[in-house]
Amino acid sequence: MRSILILGGTTEARALAAALAERADLDVTLSLAGRTLAPAAMAVPVRSGGFGGVEGLRRWLVEAGTDLLIDATHPFAGQISRHAAEAARLTGITAFALCRPPWQRQPDDNWTEVADVAEAIAALGPARRRVFLALGRQEAHAADQAPQHHYLVRSVDPVMPPLDLPDCRQILARGPFTLAGELALLREAGIDAIVCKNSGGTATYAKIAAGRELGIEVMMVRRPPVANMPAVATVPEALAAIDRAIPVSPRES
Ligand code: NAP
Repeated sequence: MRSILILGGTTEARALAAALAERADLDVTLSLAGRTLAPAAMAVPVRSGGFGGVEGLRRWLVEAGTDLLIDATHPFAGQISRHAAEAARLTGITAFALCRPPWQRQPDDNWTEVADVAEAIAALGPARRRVFLALGRQEAHAADQAPQHHYLVRSVDPVMPPLDLPDCRQILARGPFTLAGELALLREAGIDAIVCKNSGGTATYAKIAAGRELGIEVMMVRRPPVANMPAVATVPEALAAIDRAIPVSPRES
């Protein structure tokens, strides 16, 4: 029995876990940071909470007898990815990342690409705008720097501490989102700017497509640098990479 640790918190991590759940030859654990109050159900055993830095992760991998580490965290979760690369190097455990490619700008997109969330908020400019803030709750407080705007804030869990903005409406929702739903939301709220990260994937792309259709400017936060690890882009590619990394022995197949 080979042992796999998947660092998760993404749709892809959940899908990969589901694809591996029936494999009798694999012992799969999915790790979550523990930030989401009611995470979606997972098909494999879950551990939750930080490991305690690189050293904590290194120890966990050794004590669990891990054969393969898969970093399927969000492309903007840079710290855990750096820790994963370093822990893999220290232990010699085979590791790869499952990382969805970034969205590519289409001809009719009106994107202003920025380096980080603070720059995205600054790029809204001094004049009052009606902004759809789709950053998740961890970074929504970046809007405190520009309280002159109207904000529509969407997150899975409530923003904590609560936002103290003079003109702000918050909605709680978990993707995937549809184009029809996003068009209706943007129109109803009279949105003229979207602030988001270039997360990639399909689950949250509808707001980008809706923004394009409505001619709305998107403040698009670029991807942070990637950790030093081989990477695949899709769940089927990850399944193939697993079979290459820890092949099924004839006795187990
Ligand atoms: P981060 O800044 O890269 O990581 C901060 C710390 O959180 C890590 O050092 C680690 O603590 C712990 N951690 C993060 N992911 C973990 C995991 N899967 N399992 C166990 N511990 C984990 O991460 P983040 O940006 O706060 O994201 C937290 C989680 O939310 C990630 O799992 C990510 O996949 C998910 N997520 C993030 C975003 C985003 O935009 N950043 C969006 C959607 C989902 P220790 O050092 O103590 O081990």
